[in-house]
Parts: sequence; structure tokens; C-alpha cells
Amino acid sequence: GRGVAMVTAVAARLAAHRHLLEETLAPFQLNHEQLAAVQAQMREAMVKGLRGEASSLRMLPTYVRATPDGSGKDVCFVLRMWPRALDSREGPGLDHPLTCPTLQLFDHIVDCIVDFQQKQGLSGQSLPLGFTFSFPCRQLGLDQGILLNWTKGFSASDCEGQDIVCLLREAIGRRQAVELNVVAIVNDTVGTMMSCGYEDPRCEVGLIVGTGTNACYMEELRNVAAVAGDSGQMCINMEWGAFGDDGSLGLLRTCFDASVDQASINPGKQSFEKMISGMYLGEIVRHILLHLTSLGVLFRGQQTQRLQTRDIFKTKFLSEIESDSLALRQVRAILEDLGLSLTSDDALMVLEVCQAVSQRAAQLCGAGVAAVVEKIRENRGLEELTVSIGVDGTLYKLHPHFSSLVAATVRELAPRCVVTFLQSEDGSGKGAALVTAVACRLAQMARV
Ligand code: BGC
Ligand code: MG
Repeated sequence: GRGVAMVTAVAARLAAHRHLLEETLAPFQLNHEQLAAVQAQMREAMVKGLRGEASSLRMLPTYVRATPDGSGKDVCFVLRMWPRALDSREGPGLDHPLTCPTLQLFDHIVDCIVDFQQKQGLSGQSLPLGFTFSFPCRQLGLDQGILLNWTKGFSASDCEGQDIVCLLREAIGRRQAVELNVVAIVNDTVGTMMSCGYEDPRCEVGLIVGTGTNACYMEELRNVAAVAGDSGQMCINMEWGAFGDDGSLGLLRTCFDASVDQASINPGKQSFEKMISGMYLGEIVRHILLHLTSLGVLFRGQQTQRLQTRDIFKTKFLSEIESDSLALRQVRAILEDLGLSLTSDDALMVLEVCQAVSQRAAQLCGAGVAAVVEKIRENRGLEELTVSIGVDGTLYKLHPHFSSLVAATVRELAPRCVVTFLQSEDGSGKGAALVTAVACRLAQMARV
């Protein structure tokens, strides 16, 4: 009688909720055709960018011409532009956006260098400095880099359009009794590729999936319109985070992506990055949860202040929640720590939301990588290419499934490439040291 009717009503409500959940997450499930289309668009944008035609990919020359042979022995040291905690949403008390006047920023950087120099017992020596800078720069040489724009929530607007190396040299000049010789500026992707290339000469691609995302790879100079010369290779910083800024990802972007973009410091910019990297995945999840709550599917339809708080859902929670060893009970505990109180059904649904968002991110990243390795293979007219990729970034390294999903997508979309992924340990810093060593050697050779 009544009991049966109640059970039936509960079952019907659950079925309706499940249906709404699936409907909401469906646009995140990309099939083979969609991923192959992303790969093809990426490939087209690469070619246009290299030719200097209008493209959302800038394809920036880095003036790194060959992977190092490991013979450089020069003393040099390297500073990454930002202490790790600053370049990460996990950092304590990080305001959004990060703003700071240019002078102060560069004075601070020089303070960090001097501090480092003292700790290493290198004070008073004139040292060559290689500088890892994880933002798009137009380079005209190894030691010149015009900042095109900030990304990842940073902004010191009077920096844009200026040469980062000059700014650094000026700051060094302002500081008495410090001698530092800035010889190279290196994007973090390039540093990562170089550091892995030290041990594996087949490493010809660098990939970062952390707060932001980007890739670089060795391109044939004949394909690079912006740099004279037709023989040999140069590493190209793709700045693939901006892929799709011309609208080409339009069909794949969901209303949740649009909300995240709208609320960001740089709306309309870094479209690909906003679907992939650590700075944004938690926000995408949060927007989906808000939507599901408004449909009455989650949290008994009750909106909480907590969930409306921006950036409350850190990307590291995705990694934790998706960890295979966790029981649903622990997933609930993680969410309760965020101030969200939920039922087991809620916890399961949140897990599914996280999975959908991180899976799409990994697959899009894989489609990008597939475009890159296929281009290298075709450049060389090879039937099969064996290549390694140096990778860094917290999302790639800490998420339980991200790396294997990237690899699986690459296998599917670039079956003629045999790809090995190498994880680097502070690769970008070591890589910048290598570039610096090479630059010093070149300078010495030019002098004799
Ligand atoms: C920047 C790139 C950088 C990447 C990873 C992006 O936001 O534009 O220059 O390589 O983040 O750090
Ligand atoms: Mg050329």
C-alpha cells in the first residue's frame, strides 16, 4: 500500500535525478570524432601560426635551436619566475587576481636571487642567470622576451609589451653590489623539454599541465616564417592555452565554461587552458554543482553560501575525490571539510561530475599532443615516429587518472607515433640552466 507507493516515488525521483545528471554531463563526454576534430583544428592553427597568418596559436620562436648534448659545464644558476607557492592556486592566502606594480615585482625577484645566491655561498660572484618565465613572450633572441600578456590570474599591466630581461637587468642595477648576467629567458615548457632531453635525446616536446597549460616542440626551421634560415630546428613555444580564442572551440564549450570564463580576469582569452588546467577545473565543477543544486538534484535543492564562494573547490580536491582508494564515505568527508553537507547519493554525483570534467581535460590535452607528434612525424616523412615528451605540472602529476588518459588519447589519435612521457623534477629550472650553459658556451665561442 502506502509503503510501496513511497518506495516507488523515491525510485522515480532518483531516476529523474540520474537523468538530469547525465544530461548535464553529456557535453563533457567527447567521442572519437570530436577529439579528432580538435586535433585537426589544432594542426591547422599550428601551421597558420608558423606562417604568420591569423591564428589563435602564436607559435613563438624560442631561439633554442637544439636539445643539449650534455657537454655544458658552465657555472650558472636559475631562478624560476615565481616561487612555487605563488604559481599555484594551492598557495596560502592567495588573492585573485594577483596584481602588483612592475618595479616592485622585479625588485622582489632580484631580492629572491640575492637570497638564493647567499644561501648557496655564491655571493659576490658574477653569475650567468637563466630565467624561467611561464608567460607568453615574443623573443628575438635567447636573452630578449617581450611579455605579450599575463595569464593565470597574474596582472601587472604596465609590464605588458616590455622586455622582461631589460626589466630584470634594471632591477639588478637598482640593487647595489649585485652582479648578475642575464643570458637567457626560457618558457617553462622549454625548460621542461630541455631538462628531460638531457637524459633522453628523443625528448623533443615539452608539456605543462599545472595552474596553466602549454606545450613546445622542435619544429623544422624551414616551417618557421618568423626566423631566417631553412636548415635545422628550433623549439617553438605554442602558447596552446590560447587555442580556440578565435571561436574554433565554440561547439565544445559548455555554459559552465562560459561562466568560468566570464568570471575570470581575462574573459575571452586562454579558452583551451580554461578547459584543461588546474586553475579552472575546480571552478567548472563548482558551476556544475550549482546548476545541479538549482535543479534540485544535489543538496536537496538547497543553495549554500559555501558553494557560491569562488575558488573554494580546489583542483587538488578533484585529485583526492577521484582517487581509487577512496570510499564514498571519504569523498563525503572531503566535501564536508569544505562545509558542504551531503548524502551518499550527493557524494556519488559529485564524484561523477569531477570525473567528467577531468576526463574531458585530459582528452583535450591528448588531442593537442596528438597534433604535435603527428606534425613532427610528417615533418620528417617518417612512417613511424618514436618521441619522448617532458612533462611537468601539478595536475598532470597528482591527479590519479589524468596522465593515463592523456596517453590513451594520444595512442588513439596518433597511432603511428610511439610516445614516451617523462615526468620532470623541477624540469623547467634545470632546463633553463642548460639553455644558459649553452648560451654561455656560444658566447665564449663567439669571443675566440
Ligand atoms: C602560459 C604559458 C605557460 C603555461 C604553463 C600559460 O598560462 O601562457 O607561457 O607555459 O601557462 O605554465
Ligand atoms: Mg624560416
